[in-house]
Amino acid sequence: MTGLSNSAVIYLTVMLSMIVALTVMLVPALFLKRCARCGKRNMLDATECKQCKKPFPADDGHKKSRQPRS
Ligand SMILES: [Zn+2]
Repeated sequence: MTGLSNSAVIYLTVMLSMIVALTVMLVPALFLKRCARCGKRNMLDATECKQCKKPFPADDGHKKSRQPRS
């Protein structure tokens, strides 16, 4: 082959696999609910934390209307 040398191909492959690995690790975290109390990750359709049973607010969308601390 003329264009890329072997080391360049290996470098690109390593970089790509790192990006893929990062994506695979980070994307699920974006879609899982994180419990505010214990930090346990729950499924998006969970209504309460599976670890500490803290109920999730029904409207847990993108907007963060967090109540002031009491
Ligand atoms: Zn919890």
